[in-house]
Amino acid sequence: MAYLQLRGIEKFFGEHRAIKGIDLTIHQGEFIVFVGPSGCGKSTLLRLIAGLESIDGGALRLDGRDITDQPSSQRDLAMVFQSYALYPHMSVYENMSFALKLAKVDKQVIDEKVQNAARILNLTQYLQRTPKELSGGQRQRVAIGRAIVRAPKVFLFDEPLSNLDAALRGQTRVEIAKLHRDLGATTIYVTHDQVEAMTLADKVVVLRDGQIEQVGSPLELYDRPANQFVAQFIGTPQMNVLPLDQLPAALQRCAPAAAAGGSIGLRPEAVSVQAPGQGSVNGQVELVEALGAETLLYVRTVEGASLVARLNARTPLVAGDPVSLQVATEQAHWFDPAGRVVPA
Ligand code: ATP
Repeated sequence: MAYLQLRGIEKFFGEHRAIKGIDLTIHQGEFIVFVGPSGCGKSTLLRLIAGLESIDGGALRLDGRDITDQPSSQRDLAMVFQSYALYPHMSVYENMSFALKLAKVDKQVIDEKVQNAARILNLTQYLQRTPKELSGGQRQRVAIGRAIVRAPKVFLFDEPLSNLDAALRGQTRVEIAKLHRDLGATTIYVTHDQVEAMTLADKVVVLRDGQIEQVGSPLELYDRPANQFVAQFIGTPQMNVLPLDQLPAALQRCAPAAAAGGSIGLRPEAVSVQAPGQGSVNGQVELVEALGAETLLYVRTVEGASLVARLNARTPLVAGDPVSLQVATEQAHWFDPAGRVVPA
């Protein structure tokens, strides 16, 4: 059953239609991640759900109630921002208890909730400090703690980790995943980060220009993208997309008829290195990125296309070397000239 339901949601900023008739059904306990290029409307959609922006069309229902025009304070949602938005002069304890105090919750109940959240988030020893006495990661945990004590119906996260350095981002990401596993709270999370989207989400919502391109589990989107946009948006490095007319003739003959004039999509792991002259695509190495466990090989083909191969071994190849590649055509995605998927 739908827990949070978006029906034909519209948002205009002046003449600009930022959100274009979004329909989305979210079930209780799901972890939903919004992704998409800068300006596609991720934050706006989150803010519409939070009640921080007014909805110009459509309807929003939460747990059976219409909340389209309800003020933010009555929606029973908690939002965690990139900037933490902590009260600088208050202690961690006061920051976490503030909303409950305003709601005139019993002091002892507040204390239990704050202590419990602090324990979950490993903040117990910092409860008397002020935010400026904490690291970025600890501050973000306080911001999350402030949301937890309210036990909201839905947690909303707007790029919560983007101010943290890479190591802390990784750690905090794992903490958020554990938190979701333990609390099972319905969560909507906006991010730019592919790894966050792929590891945290039950369902990823790919947005583009105010519309939904595809909704699916991370692996559904990776394995069965609905179109070239999703195919190239999900996955790092990006899927290789080569116009069919830049393929060697033997490969062009593998293309389904409906892909005529279109392109082939190959994940970097669908491209491998062969002995000289043995592969179906020949070219020259442009760049080698040795990442330790894997190597990324950037190649310019003799037909003039650029390709990246993901090798799970080290390679003696260096920039400038000739190289022969095999492509796993059974793993290929085919696109028509409009970027729509064509069945193999
Ligand atoms: P980013 O990843 O860069 O944060 P986003 O996907 O979150 O982008 P939004 O911030 O939701 O994108 O913005 C969507 C569109 O609406 C953009 O074109 C943006 O310029 C516009 N927009 C957002 N907020 C406002 C506002 N308050 N006034 C006018 N235009 C706005």
